[in-house]
Amino acid sequence: MIQTKKKYENPTLKDWIIGIGLIVIFLGVIGIGAFLLIPDHWIWWLSLVLVGTLLLTLNQNKNYAYRCRECGHEFEIRFITNLISPHGVDKEGSWLWVKCPSCKTRGKVSLIRIVKEE
Ligand SMILES: [Zn+2]
Repeated sequence: MIQTKKKYENPTLKDWIIGIGLIVIFLGVIGIGAFLLIPDHWIWWLSLVLVGTLLLTLNQNKNYAYRCRECGHEFEIRFITNLISPHGVDKEGSWLWVKCPSCKTRGKVSLIRIVKEE
């Protein structure tokens, strides 16, 4: 069996469109859900928010990895770390606030795409 090393690349415009699209759909569902379910069925609405957040994070965790802005080390993170770490966007792109496993610096790491071998 040949072991292929995973490759990474910078996110493309398509990644941005899909990413933003998913968030817009999610917020839309949350908004409509709030209108229909609050206040009588707020527990269902809360479940909707939680499940949506989990699915979005799961999708991101499967398709994306991170690159340390200090040392350039590229690594994947655990689902739970992705879920609880602060996220944001700045001039250099999408980031996550975690500790780099290589240089041990806690700071922003850039989102990169996992290239899938077809
Ligand atoms: Zn590092």
